[in-house]
Amino acid sequence: MDLLSSAEALDGYRKKCMDSPLNFLARKGYIYQAWMDQYLKSYEKEGERIVVVNPDAEGGLPHTRPPNIIVIPAYYPKHMLEETLRHERVHIEQRKFPHTWEARAIQDGWVKVEESQIPESLLKRVRLNPDTIGSRFWAWDGWVPLPLFVREDRPNIKDTMLRWYSLKEGITSSATPASFTKKYGVVIDSAKEHPFELWAYI
Ligand SMILES: [Zn+2]
Repeated sequence: MDLLSSAEALDGYRKKCMDSPLNFLARKGYIYQAWMDQYLKSYEKEGERIVVVNPDAEGGLPHTRPPNIIVIPAYYPKHMLEETLRHERVHIEQRKFPHTWEARAIQDGWVKVEESQIPESLLKRVRLNPDTIGSRFWAWDGWVPLPLFVREDRPNIKDTMLRWYSLKEGITSSATPASFTKKYGVVIDSAKEHPFELWAYI
């Protein structure tokens, strides 16, 4: 079995994307398959695999798949590669030792949130992320960061906005909780969506 098929057998990520109408639409026309020229093999470190995929796979966003696969779209800018590999290697570590990283989140004050705690109207709009699919939702100070598709009628994987959902009040806000900024400083939205992303960025 090829690497992407064995990854799919482990996490069912692509199937989850297809089963979610908005996530399916957001990836429509984007081919997800290994690129003919696997030109990044020389960047592989021990214990990991790098798979080059079609340029538009996942909208061109690099990511990881289980157990130890870094997925990079073809033509990914060379000057960004080292920094991106560093980021994806953090996700590989998180895949290897999920309990350690979850414990770190809890230590920092994050609280794990069940999918059932997120209203369906928001849940269906959340962009699936293969790097956080193992424990999708976490609350910071009662607020759950959610990467939502901007257009519900025409979702695109590259077009998302970060919103915070209040478990207590049932409202969403675009404002980052002050306590979050106090703890982690000013970070980009992609880093706010999940503690695992935060640590891969900072
Ligand atoms: Zn990431």
